[in-house]
Amino acid sequence: MKEKIKKSEEEWREALTEEEFYVLRKKGTEVAFTGKYLDNKKEGIYLCAGCGAELFSSKTKYDSGSGWPSFWEPISRENLDTKIDKSLGTVRIELLCSRCGGHLGHVFTDGPKPTGERYCINSVSLKFKDKAKKAKQDKE
Ligand code: FE
Repeated sequence: MKEKIKKSEEEWREALTEEEFYVLRKKGTEVAFTGKYLDNKKEGIYLCAGCGAELFSSKTKYDSGSGWPSFWEPISRENLDTKIDKSLGTVRIELLCSRCGGHLGHVFTDGPKPTGERYCINSVSLKFKDKAKKAKQDKE
C-alpha cells in the first residue's frame, strides 16, 4: 500500500459528510438494512470513502442476511488493518483501511467458501465505482 493518509479530526470533519465522519472516524455503525450498497448487484469496485483505496470487488460480494454489505474476500489484505474490538461485550475483529485508518466494519469467520470469511462493511465507508460506467467513459 502506498503512502498513509493522515488528517486531523478537523480536516476529516471537513472532508467527509457527517455520516461518513461518524462511521469512518468515530467507528459508528449504519443501521442494519439501510445502507445504500446492501442490495447493489452491479459489477465494479468498492473504494474506501475516506481515501479512495480499492477495498472490495463486486465479484466477492454476497448476501449474508446480516443487513450490511458483505464480501468473502478483500481485493488485497494489505489494504486492511485489523484490530481486536471488545466493545458490545464480545470480541470482534475490527477492519480499518490501512491507508487512512478509517473504520470499515468487522470480519467474521462464518463466511462462505472458499475463504470462510465474512467482511461485514458499512455502506457509508464505501464508494462504489461502477464498471459499466467506467467502460462507457473510456469509450467517449
Ligand atoms: Fe481509506
